[in-house]
Amino acid sequence: MNKLNHDQLLSLEHPFVKIPVEKFRSSLRTSQKHIEKEIGNLTDKISEISKKSVQGSMEPSQVEAALEAIVNRLSTLKRKLKDIRADEVLYSQRTKVRLQHLQDFATIQTLDSDEYARWSRVRLNRIVIDYMLRDGFRGPAALLAKSEHIEDFVDIELFAQSAKVEEALERQSCAECLQWCKENNSNLKKIKSTLEFSLREQEFIELARERRSQEAIAYAKKHLTPWQETHMKEISHVMGLLAFPPETKCHPYKRLYDKSRWNDLIAQFRSNNFALQFFTPEPLLNVTLQAGLSSLKTPMCYQPEHRNANCPVCDPETLGALAMDLPLSHHFNSSIVCRISGQIMNEDNLPMALPNGYVYSYNALTEMASLNDGKVTCPRTGAVFNLTDVKKVFIS
Ligand SMILES: [Zn+2]
Repeated sequence: MNKLNHDQLLSLEHPFVKIPVEKFRSSLRTSQKHIEKEIGNLTDKISEISKKSVQGSMEPSQVEAALEAIVNRLSTLKRKLKDIRADEVLYSQRTKVRLQHLQDFATIQTLDSDEYARWSRVRLNRIVIDYMLRDGFRGPAALLAKSEHIEDFVDIELFAQSAKVEEALERQSCAECLQWCKENNSNLKKIKSTLEFSLREQEFIELARERRSQEAIAYAKKHLTPWQETHMKEISHVMGLLAFPPETKCHPYKRLYDKSRWNDLIAQFRSNNFALQFFTPEPLLNVTLQAGLSSLKTPMCYQPEHRNANCPVCDPETLGALAMDLPLSHHFNSSIVCRISGQIMNEDNLPMALPNGYVYSYNALTEMASLNDGKVTCPRTGAVFNLTDVKKVFIS
């Protein structure tokens, strides 16, 4: 029986519930802000009208118009609250079904049960969808979510919103991202974001690139000077662009003119956006794969002459690259596994070396020899030897 380690798996699921809970809370906060603002305005206006009408300084027609204006404002408030209410319903529903999904997992006891197979299929699908969304494949991700009936387990619309900002940055326009910074100003301050400064720098750089010096100076006065306390060094570097043309080879101005800065802005926006939305910086697919890879990684994996075809970390192109920064696995006891039979080699099933140096288990080689007139074939090289030429290996 393969027992499940619930805590270990659930420790990776924090963002799964946190994301809708935080969206729900922020919707509540927004509706509360709107209500407080309008109630304040309403009481001020009502007391002003009653005061003025008692004094007789307001005509009945003026009172009527003022009351109508209040009604209009309240209707606008009602519309806004209706939209926010739709968000609240969506995210409270999402929180509920996600908690239920984790609750279902808590009742599953074994890894080989049908319930776990079903549950982990859903989990795999949502992890793959998260990966696709982060890579910009929103259409296929939405199709997969729909066909698997797991729309409430993924956050497609949150990626759709951020995609607009990213597309604008790809078109080399900062306006949309600056607007996003304005809307999320207080949260960005909490995470000490410098995204807005980077965007302001970029707008200045573009003016300098076109040699529109007067406009660049005016822009710097308005948008860069507020950052001078913390970013004086950066400001003095970009100001240097007024003296250096875009073709300059001089450091650091050459790097500031480099168009690849736009990609850095996209990366900076993404990481800030993920932090604000409570997404993990890395896709969950990478995190779960890395958890497994770190238990397999050995110092041999990155030595070409010692690569093992059965070890995923040994492939430098794919999973080996993903495991690059991971720590090595901590082996208390190593066990040697026979390539032919998959059995562990120990004192009851000794490791045996063929004349070509490859090692297999005693049991596997004797069985093979018994079926082939005392001859064994090396599965790696295809070379054929007599069983009598095989030697015991002593590992110290
Ligand atoms: Zn390896």
